[in-house]
Amino acid sequence: MEKVRTRFAPSPTGYMHLGNLRSALFEYLIAKKENGTFILRIEDTDQKRVVTDAVKFITDTLSLCNIHVDEGPMQGGEYGPYFQSERLEIYQNYAKQLVDMGKAYYCFCDEERLEELREEANLRKVAFLYDGHCRNLSKEEIEEKLKNNTPYVIRQAMPKDGVTSYDDLVYGHIAVENALLEDQILIKSDGYPTYNFANVIDDHLMHITHVVRGNEYLSSTPKYLLLYQAFHWTSPLYIHLPHIVKEGGKKLSKREGDASFMDLYNEGYLPEAIINYLALLGWSPSDNQEIFSMDELIEKFDYHRINNSPAIYDVKKLQWINAQYIKKLSLDELCELTLPFLEEAYDLSVKSKEWIKELIRIYQNHLSYGKEMVELVELFFKEEITIDLEAKEFMKQEGIENTLKIFKNKIEKIFWSVESINQAIMDTKEESGAKGKLLYMPIRIKTTGQMHGPELPETLFLLGKDTVLKRLS
Ligand code: GLU
Repeated sequence: MEKVRTRFAPSPTGYMHLGNLRSALFEYLIAKKENGTFILRIEDTDQKRVVTDAVKFITDTLSLCNIHVDEGPMQGGEYGPYFQSERLEIYQNYAKQLVDMGKAYYCFCDEERLEELREEANLRKVAFLYDGHCRNLSKEEIEEKLKNNTPYVIRQAMPKDGVTSYDDLVYGHIAVENALLEDQILIKSDGYPTYNFANVIDDHLMHITHVVRGNEYLSSTPKYLLLYQAFHWTSPLYIHLPHIVKEGGKKLSKREGDASFMDLYNEGYLPEAIINYLALLGWSPSDNQEIFSMDELIEKFDYHRINNSPAIYDVKKLQWINAQYIKKLSLDELCELTLPFLEEAYDLSVKSKEWIKELIRIYQNHLSYGKEMVELVELFFKEEITIDLEAKEFMKQEGIENTLKIFKNKIEKIFWSVESINQAIMDTKEESGAKGKLLYMPIRIKTTGQMHGPELPETLFLLGKDTVLKRLS
């Protein structure tokens, strides 16, 4: 059997949205499941969009996510170079071959003429399609223009009739009438290839077996297949992925402030958890498992189970998954994750290292993402706490004031430790007759302003005797 080879082919635009990362992940999983090869190819043919350091950004993101590149710009490999901008000659040669075969042609139409065509199409309210004006230039005309250095592009000569179709592994049978396909540009006037051309040449030369990408390419794939046919090449399998959308159906977009991978990472989401979450955006296992290590994903991932309906991005679900990973961190790892946020938000210099560590520890099971620690522990850093309506309502119950008075008396006299605070709560129970919620909740609300939180004696201990007494008064 042919060895599986997949590729992640980002354009270096300076950030990685979640859809990109999910494509990379699925490609990686498909390759690794079959002991195949995962390739990184940088699609930098649109030089206007290239951002400095973007490649480093992409490779850093992949390595944070535990996605290992086998062949790529840093690793090298048999089928390099892996920057498209370093392969210009390759594309130009193949384009010329197509011209010789009559499957492509030089087009000398200038911007002015194209603009006229566009306006005309606009007026008629139809999509602009290049009209094939240069398709029938004579050999002499072409030579003449080339000799005079007239700027040109190379366009694909689409068949006038027939249908081109393929079976996408997610979307099923896709068929397009050739008459509807534009004679698309393969080589631009600056000598660079378009994506439409370069992706075909590279996927072929790099022996890619499975192409995984966003479904915006679903309907242009027939154009690519015509190129494969022209060269008598076998095409790869296609796996187009549904978009990731927000509740309500809108596409995630950087411009609208939707989180990218780095945004999430910078808020203290763990890369393993983000990856775990992304795996479930559009794919599901055959059982109900929700938490997967990378190795488990490699074992269980099956692209036949990718769903073609839009995948809905649900922050709550991501937070739940992230919380599961946070629960498994060692205390040192948890401190590493959360301390920078706390340092930025609060003056920690007045607190001891042990106190801070203990504070972080008691919130481990309450935390969804690193930065959330700042809100969770706010009550330890501010003088006044606010009590919300629900809690106020609770506090109206009979006997509560008495319970609180008894508790206050008890702790006034004790040596401050978790055990003695616990004992004071037990003694209060005995003396007041209050139990369960009516015992713990009033103390919690009065001292923290909240109805939920970590173990009460530990919380009170860290608040300190003075603060607890003051809040009880
Ligand atoms: N450079 C393209 C993009 O970033 C890649 C699409 C593909 O994977 O073929 O959208």
